[in-house]
Amino acid sequence: MESCPIPDSQWERALELIGRADEVALACHVTPDGDALGSMLAVAFTLRRMGKRVVASFGDRHFVVPRLLRFLPGQDMLVAPEDYPAEPELMIVFDASTFERLGLLCSNAATAREVIVVDHHPSNGGFGTLGLIDAKAAATAMLAEQLVYRLGGRLDRDIATCLYAGLVTDTGSFRHSSVTPAVHQMAARLVATGLRTDEIARELWDRSPFGYLKVLAAALDRVTLEDGLVSTYVTRVDRAAYGLPYAELEGIIDIVRRTDEAEVAVVLKEDDQGDWQVSTRSKGRVDVGSVCAALGGGGHHNAAGYTSHDSVEETMAKFRRELRKVC
Ligand code: 5GP
Ligand code: MN
Repeated sequence: MESCPIPDSQWERALELIGRADEVALACHVTPDGDALGSMLAVAFTLRRMGKRVVASFGDRHFVVPRLLRFLPGQDMLVAPEDYPAEPELMIVFDASTFERLGLLCSNAATAREVIVVDHHPSNGGFGTLGLIDAKAAATAMLAEQLVYRLGGRLDRDIATCLYAGLVTDTGSFRHSSVTPAVHQMAARLVATGLRTDEIARELWDRSPFGYLKVLAAALDRVTLEDGLVSTYVTRVDRAAYGLPYAELEGIIDIVRRTDEAEVAVVLKEDDQGDWQVSTRSKGRVDVGSVCAALGGGGHHNAAGYTSHDSVEETMAKFRRELRKVC
């Protein structure tokens, strides 16, 4: 295993805080992806087996697990934000680079006695009372795996499924520049528990309702390419015609970003509140993480996002303005 930049003293402090808590409240970022939910559930399993009371949640107003993550085991440990402890004695937060990414659970984190932050975003500003943060880790799931071991837990198929969902999601199926030997070594440990990687891949990427194709068609119909920036948008109205939930839009950026002539790709997705969730991707030359951070969001060098309350035109104009500053 590669050396871990998180000092042992910090891991030990985390174990101490967990050791003395009867109940541990886990949280991950809003509209969770495989890394956020998978990391949280893997640690939830481990804590439950240690005899802890465990609750886990994410702070979405409309609390539903995205359809493509419903195959993850351990969902009986999830509670809606309104049923979450108001003042947790210990909270552990996964894959959230800022406090705001906790959505409705921000107030619970603000009143929690201790907040351990497990994350791999370079833009993580170090909120909480203890950080287990490694910006070089390809996924939060890599840190979650370490936490499982350090807690004395062992990989079983449930825990491995959750961690694998995180690893495979955040590495783009082992394609991104973040992939190191340690990533493949971790994958080998997980697969050795008997995972059906083919079934997990199908759940994550190869199942969509018919309406997805129609909404994708609308998005591709409006795609534009200008000065190396490819972009499009999807409205609430597009989705309403097919009853397509917001979470189903996650894969559109992966189609748009393959445009050979573009260095940067952007997809604006209108959520159920009417705000634009902006997904951005870079091929490496441009740090979209810092562009998005300047616009109130964050993320990684090559994959980042933020929320915009402006129109599509105004959102794109502001994005271009920030992009020019780093090009
Ligand atoms: P996606 O486009 O897949 O939603 O997000 C890509 C990356 O950007 C993820 O690592 C995610 O954590 C980060 N990200 C997306 N939206 C936001 C946001 O509103 N705020 C912050 N801080 N990060 C975001
Ligand atoms: Mn992640």
